[in-house]
Amino acid sequence: MIKDLNELIEGSIEYLKFAKNYPAYNVLKESLPEEKEINITAAPDRLDEDLNLNITLVKDKTVERDFTYGLLKEDWMKSESVEELNNNIHDCKKCPLAKTRTNFVFGTGNPNADVIVVGEAPGAEEDKQGKPFVGRAGQLLTDILKAINFSREDVFICNILKCRPPENRNPLPEEIVHCEPYLIKQLELIKPKMILAVGTFAGQTLLRTKDPLGKMRGKIFDFHAGEIKAKLLVTYHPAALLRNPNWKKPTWEDVKLFRKEYDKK
Ligand code: SF4
Repeated sequence: MIKDLNELIEGSIEYLKFAKNYPAYNVLKESLPEEKEINITAAPDRLDEDLNLNITLVKDKTVERDFTYGLLKEDWMKSESVEELNNNIHDCKKCPLAKTRTNFVFGTGNPNADVIVVGEAPGAEEDKQGKPFVGRAGQLLTDILKAINFSREDVFICNILKCRPPENRNPLPEEIVHCEPYLIKQLELIKPKMILAVGTFAGQTLLRTKDPLGKMRGKIFDFHAGEIKAKLLVTYHPAALLRNPNWKKPTWEDVKLFRKEYDKK
């Protein structure tokens, strides 16, 4: 199995970046045994640095993985503050969404927040204003946070993708490959203690799983990536609650659990 993976890695640097940054879309992962650690050193002559890929597959409720931000060093990686990172990436053109966006949506809030809220991608209003979670869904998020004694100013709010997918379609794997490292850098700079992932897509991306939301919600995960160590909870996206008010009750249960975990810290 590992031989197969090595062959793929040797065969394609693009694949390598893809598998390394987004193992949830690594087709081979499905066929690998669970709870198995894979260490691969590949193609050092073709890269800027030796690559050591460590993937520890999802084990119980813990996700651990080691990675760097792609194989080529880029200036934004050296950013030392959230503001500097924003300045370094706001004109990003790494994926086709750069052509269709009105505004890049970096995220807003406290750059030293203990809590970070992560959604999927900007919608129409967010794209127009350049801010995450505005409009009706944004107001509902504000109300949810308030109900558990957080203000928007206390937390940091952002998305997996920084630009709006046309017609609000789901983000594509190749968009995530390019954009998720920015989120990881945000997490590294902000150093949150807790992550609230809202919506199926944010949960699946951060947890590297294809589980439906019903299976992800209602429990606290350990999120470890490099230096980042935080507790993570997945719940419904506020936009989904506007469509289906029946999900408000489970969301309330989730966020109460989130607050309880926060208070423990
Ligand atoms: S979605 Fe992310 S990777 Fe794509 S252009 Fe926007 S910032 Fe860059």
